[in-house]
Amino acid sequence: MSAIEVQDVGLSYFTLKQETEALRNVRMAIEPGEFISIVGPSGCGKSTLLYLLSGMLKPTTGRVLIDGVETAGVSPKVGYMLQRDHLFEWRDVLSNLLVGAEIRRMNREEATRRARELLDRYGLSGFAGHSPDQLSGGMRQRVALIRTLVTDPDILLLDEPFSALDYQSRLTLAEDVFHIIKDQGKTAVLVTHDISEAISMADRVLVMSKRPSSIVSEYPIRFEEG
Ligand code: ADP
Ligand code: ADP
Repeated sequence: MSAIEVQDVGLSYFTLKQETEALRNVRMAIEPGEFISIVGPSGCGKSTLLYLLSGMLKPTTGRVLIDGVETAGVSPKVGYMLQRDHLFEWRDVLSNLLVGAEIRRMNREEATRRARELLDRYGLSGFAGHSPDQLSGGMRQRVALIRTLVTDPDILLLDEPFSALDYQSRLTLAEDVFHIIKDQGKTAVLVTHDISEAISMADRVLVMSKRPSSIVSEYPIRFEEG
Protein backbone atom coordinates (compact mmCIF):
# COMPACT_ATOMS: atom_id res chain seq x y z
CA MET A 1 0.00 0.00 0.00
CA SER A 2 1.21 3.51 -0.79
CA ALA A 3 2.25 5.73 2.11
CA ILE A 4 0.44 8.64 0.45
CA GLU A 5 -2.06 8.64 -2.36
CA VAL A 6 -3.40 11.81 -3.93
CA GLN A 7 -6.49 11.12 -6.04
CA ASP A 8 -7.53 13.81 -8.54
CA VAL A 9 -7.12 16.57 -6.00
CA GLY A 10 -8.17 20.15 -6.63
CA LEU A 11 -7.82 23.00 -4.17
CA SER A 12 -9.26 26.49 -4.38
CA TYR A 13 -8.84 29.23 -1.83
CA PHE A 14 -11.96 31.31 -1.34
CA THR A 15 -11.95 34.85 -0.03
CA LEU A 16 -14.83 37.36 -0.06
CA LYS A 17 -13.46 38.93 -3.22
CA GLN A 18 -12.16 36.04 -5.23
CA GLU A 19 -11.47 32.39 -5.75
CA THR A 20 -7.89 31.27 -6.37
CA GLU A 21 -7.64 27.87 -7.98
CA ALA A 22 -4.27 26.65 -6.73
CA LEU A 23 -4.32 22.97 -7.68
CA ARG A 24 -6.20 21.01 -10.34
CA ASN A 25 -6.18 17.25 -10.99
CA VAL A 26 -3.17 16.41 -8.89
CA ARG A 27 -2.49 12.69 -8.88
CA MET A 28 0.42 10.94 -7.27
CA ALA A 29 1.38 8.03 -5.10
CA ILE A 30 4.35 7.89 -2.76
CA GLU A 31 5.65 4.54 -1.58
CA PRO A 32 6.86 3.86 1.98
CA GLY A 33 10.51 4.88 2.36
CA GLU A 34 10.55 6.92 -0.83
CA PHE A 35 12.13 10.38 -0.91
CA ILE A 36 10.25 12.69 -3.26
CA SER A 37 11.17 16.23 -4.28
CA ILE A 38 8.66 18.69 -5.66
CA VAL A 39 9.80 21.67 -7.75
CA GLY A 40 7.84 24.33 -9.60
CA PRO A 41 7.53 28.08 -10.05
CA SER A 42 6.83 30.31 -7.07
CA GLY A 43 3.12 30.46 -6.24
CA CYS A 44 2.27 27.24 -8.08
CA GLY A 45 0.94 25.55 -4.95
CA LYS A 46 3.82 23.52 -3.53
CA SER A 47 3.14 24.60 0.06
CA THR A 48 -0.58 24.09 -0.52
CA LEU A 49 0.10 20.52 -1.63
CA LEU A 50 2.05 19.86 1.59
CA TYR A 51 -0.82 21.32 3.68
CA LEU A 52 -3.11 18.83 1.94
CA LEU A 53 -0.74 15.92 2.56
CA SER A 54 -0.59 16.81 6.26
CA GLY A 55 -4.36 17.07 6.61
CA MET A 56 -4.19 20.77 7.60
CA LEU A 57 -6.25 21.59 4.49
CA LYS A 58 -9.12 19.59 3.01
CA PRO A 59 -9.12 19.23 -0.78
CA THR A 60 -11.90 21.04 -2.65
CA THR A 61 -12.21 18.00 -4.91
CA GLY A 62 -10.64 14.53 -4.76
CA ARG A 63 -9.06 12.69 -1.85
CA VAL A 64 -5.78 12.35 0.04
CA LEU A 65 -5.09 8.95 1.58
CA ILE A 66 -2.43 8.23 4.19
CA ASP A 67 -1.80 4.47 4.47
CA GLY A 68 -5.02 3.95 2.54
CA VAL A 69 -7.16 6.04 4.88
CA GLU A 70 -8.63 9.45 4.06
CA THR A 71 -7.13 12.09 6.34
CA ALA A 72 -9.44 13.74 8.83
CA GLY A 73 -7.62 16.69 10.39
CA VAL A 74 -3.87 16.79 10.89
CA SER A 75 -2.47 13.29 10.58
CA PRO A 76 -0.40 12.05 13.54
CA LYS A 77 1.65 10.09 10.99
CA VAL A 78 3.08 13.31 9.58
CA GLY A 79 5.90 15.58 10.78
CA TYR A 80 6.68 19.01 9.34
CA MET A 81 9.94 20.89 8.79
CA LEU A 82 9.71 24.47 7.56
CA GLN A 83 12.01 27.19 6.24
CA ARG A 84 12.11 28.79 9.68
CA ASP A 85 12.76 26.55 12.66
CA HIS A 86 10.12 28.05 14.98
CA LEU A 87 12.16 27.11 18.04
CA PHE A 88 11.08 28.78 21.29
CA GLU A 89 13.95 31.05 22.35
CA TRP A 90 13.04 30.84 26.04
CA ARG A 91 13.23 27.04 26.14
CA ASP A 92 16.42 25.01 25.93
CA VAL A 93 17.02 22.52 23.12
CA LEU A 94 15.71 19.48 25.00
CA SER A 95 12.57 21.28 26.07
CA ASN A 96 12.00 22.44 22.45
CA LEU A 97 12.23 18.82 21.35
CA LEU A 98 9.31 17.93 23.61
CA VAL A 99 6.83 20.40 22.11
CA GLY A 100 5.28 17.95 19.63
CA ALA A 101 5.15 15.26 22.30
CA GLU A 102 3.34 17.67 24.66
CA ILE A 103 0.76 18.57 22.03
CA ARG A 104 0.13 14.88 21.42
CA ARG A 105 0.16 14.09 25.13
CA MET A 106 2.87 11.48 24.78
CA ASN A 107 4.38 10.09 27.94
CA ARG A 108 6.95 12.70 29.04
CA GLU A 109 9.65 10.27 30.18
CA GLU A 110 9.38 8.25 27.02
CA ALA A 111 9.57 11.41 24.90
CA THR A 112 12.58 12.71 26.87
CA ARG A 113 14.39 9.40 26.47
CA ARG A 114 13.73 9.44 22.75
CA ALA A 115 14.79 13.08 22.39
CA ARG A 116 18.11 12.41 24.15
CA GLU A 117 18.71 9.32 22.05
CA LEU A 118 18.16 11.32 18.85
CA LEU A 119 20.46 14.14 20.04
CA ASP A 120 23.21 11.58 20.76
CA ARG A 121 22.74 9.74 17.52
CA TYR A 122 22.85 12.84 15.36
CA GLY A 123 25.76 14.69 16.90
CA LEU A 124 24.00 17.12 19.23
CA SER A 125 24.44 15.35 22.56
CA GLY A 126 26.25 18.28 24.18
CA PHE A 127 23.48 20.73 23.34
CA ALA A 128 20.43 19.53 25.29
CA GLY A 129 20.74 22.40 27.80
CA HIS A 130 21.72 25.10 25.28
CA SER A 131 19.43 27.92 24.33
CA PRO A 132 18.56 28.04 20.59
CA ASP A 133 20.34 31.41 20.22
CA GLN A 134 23.64 29.68 21.05
CA LEU A 135 23.34 27.51 17.94
CA SER A 136 24.15 28.18 14.27
CA GLY A 137 21.34 28.32 11.71
CA GLY A 138 22.22 24.86 10.43
CA MET A 139 22.24 23.35 13.92
CA ARG A 140 18.89 24.97 14.71
CA GLN A 141 17.41 23.35 11.63
CA ARG A 142 18.86 20.01 12.73
CA VAL A 143 17.12 20.50 16.09
CA ALA A 144 13.89 21.27 14.19
CA LEU A 145 14.24 18.00 12.29
CA ILE A 146 14.89 16.03 15.48
CA ARG A 147 11.85 17.70 17.06
CA THR A 148 9.67 16.19 14.34
CA LEU A 149 11.28 12.76 14.91
CA VAL A 150 10.50 12.62 18.64
CA THR A 151 6.88 11.73 17.90
CA ASP A 152 8.08 9.14 15.36
CA PRO A 153 5.95 10.09 12.33
CA ASP A 154 6.11 7.82 9.25
CA ILE A 155 6.15 10.72 6.84
CA LEU A 156 8.20 13.93 6.86
CA LEU A 157 7.06 16.98 4.92
CA LEU A 158 9.90 19.41 4.27
CA ASP A 159 8.97 22.88 2.97
CA GLU A 160 12.12 24.70 1.78
CA PRO A 161 13.94 23.66 4.96
CA PHE A 162 17.35 24.90 3.79
CA SER A 163 16.49 28.13 1.99
CA ALA A 164 17.10 30.48 4.92
CA LEU A 165 20.73 29.30 5.19
CA ASP A 166 23.93 30.37 3.49
CA TYR A 167 25.24 28.19 0.66
CA GLN A 168 27.77 26.16 2.65
CA SER A 169 25.42 25.44 5.60
CA ARG A 170 22.75 24.40 3.16
CA LEU A 171 24.95 21.79 1.51
CA THR A 172 26.05 20.34 4.85
CA LEU A 173 22.55 20.32 6.31
CA ALA A 174 20.96 18.83 3.18
CA GLU A 175 23.38 15.93 3.38
CA ASP A 176 22.77 15.49 7.13
CA VAL A 177 19.02 15.59 6.71
CA PHE A 178 19.18 13.08 3.86
CA HIS A 179 21.17 10.61 5.99
CA ILE A 180 18.98 11.08 9.05
CA ILE A 181 15.78 10.48 7.06
CA LYS A 182 17.18 7.37 5.36
CA ASP A 183 18.61 6.12 8.65
CA GLN A 184 15.17 6.48 10.26
CA GLY A 185 13.48 4.80 7.28
CA LYS A 186 11.04 7.67 6.80
CA THR A 187 9.01 8.58 3.74
CA ALA A 188 9.83 12.17 2.78
CA VAL A 189 8.45 14.91 0.57
CA LEU A 190 10.77 17.87 -0.01
CA VAL A 191 9.60 21.13 -1.57
CA THR A 192 12.48 23.21 -2.91
CA HIS A 193 13.38 25.93 -5.41
CA ASP A 194 16.80 24.37 -5.90
CA ILE A 195 16.76 21.86 -8.71
CA SER A 196 20.17 20.38 -7.91
CA GLU A 197 19.08 19.89 -4.29
CA ALA A 198 15.91 18.22 -5.54
CA ILE A 199 17.81 15.83 -7.78
CA SER A 200 20.63 15.00 -5.38
CA MET A 201 18.32 14.11 -2.49
CA ALA A 202 15.33 12.39 -4.02
CA ASP A 203 14.42 9.06 -5.54
CA ARG A 204 12.00 10.93 -7.75
CA VAL A 205 11.50 14.57 -8.69
CA LEU A 206 8.00 15.81 -9.49
CA VAL A 207 7.63 19.01 -11.47
CA MET A 208 4.56 21.23 -11.10
CA SER A 209 3.19 23.59 -13.74
CA LYS A 210 1.98 27.15 -13.24
CA ARG A 211 -1.33 27.75 -11.50
CA PRO A 212 -3.83 26.09 -11.59
CA SER A 213 -1.14 23.53 -11.08
CA SER A 214 -0.82 19.88 -11.72
CA ILE A 215 2.15 17.56 -11.69
CA VAL A 216 3.41 17.73 -15.25
CA SER A 217 6.50 15.58 -15.24
CA GLU A 218 8.52 13.18 -13.22
CA TYR A 219 12.22 12.40 -13.12
CA PRO A 220 13.35 9.63 -13.27
CA ILE A 221 10.25 8.33 -14.97
CA ARG A 222 8.86 5.21 -13.40
CA PHE A 223 7.45 2.51 -15.62
CA GLU A 224 4.46 0.82 -14.09
CA GLU A 225 4.10 -2.92 -14.65
CA GLY A 226 1.22 -4.29 -16.72
P1 ADP B 1 4.18 27.89 -3.54
O1 ADP B 1 4.42 27.16 -2.26
O2 ADP B 1 4.41 27.02 -4.75
O3 ADP B 1 4.93 29.18 -3.63
P2 ADP B 1 1.54 28.34 -2.41
O4 ADP B 1 1.00 26.99 -2.14
O5 ADP B 1 2.10 29.12 -1.26
O6 ADP B 1 2.62 28.25 -3.60
O7 ADP B 1 0.39 29.22 -3.09
C1 ADP B 1 -0.36 28.79 -4.24
C2 ADP B 1 -1.34 29.87 -4.67
O8 ADP B 1 -2.37 29.96 -3.71
C3 ADP B 1 -0.72 31.26 -4.76
O9 ADP B 1 -1.35 31.93 -5.81
C4 ADP B 1 -1.05 31.89 -3.41
O10 ADP B 1 -1.12 33.29 -3.50
C5 ADP B 1 -2.42 31.27 -3.13
N1 ADP B 1 -2.66 31.12 -1.68
C6 ADP B 1 -1.88 30.47 -0.80
N2 ADP B 1 -2.41 30.49 0.43
C7 ADP B 1 -3.56 31.20 0.32
C8 ADP B 1 -4.57 31.59 1.25
N3 ADP B 1 -4.49 31.26 2.55
N4 ADP B 1 -5.60 32.33 0.80
C9 ADP B 1 -5.69 32.68 -0.51
N5 ADP B 1 -4.79 32.33 -1.46
C10 ADP B 1 -3.73 31.61 -1.04
P1 ADP C 1 6.07 30.45 0.07
O1 ADP C 1 6.07 30.99 -1.33
O2 ADP C 1 7.45 30.36 0.69
O3 ADP C 1 5.29 29.20 0.21
P2 ADP C 1 4.38 32.70 0.71
O4 ADP C 1 5.12 33.92 1.14
O5 ADP C 1 3.81 32.57 -0.65
O6 ADP C 1 5.35 31.48 1.04
O7 ADP C 1 3.19 32.40 1.73
C1 ADP C 1 3.36 32.48 3.12
C2 ADP C 1 2.02 32.26 3.81
O8 ADP C 1 1.02 33.17 3.32
C3 ADP C 1 1.46 30.85 3.58
O9 ADP C 1 0.93 30.38 4.80
C4 ADP C 1 0.36 31.03 2.56
O10 ADP C 1 -0.70 30.10 2.74
C5 ADP C 1 -0.12 32.44 2.83
N1 ADP C 1 -0.57 33.07 1.58
C6 ADP C 1 0.06 33.06 0.40
N2 ADP C 1 -0.64 33.73 -0.55
C7 ADP C 1 -1.77 34.18 0.08
C8 ADP C 1 -2.90 34.95 -0.35
N3 ADP C 1 -3.04 35.35 -1.61
N4 ADP C 1 -3.84 35.23 0.57
C9 ADP C 1 -3.72 34.80 1.83
N5 ADP C 1 -2.67 34.08 2.31
C10 ADP C 1 -1.70 33.77 1.44
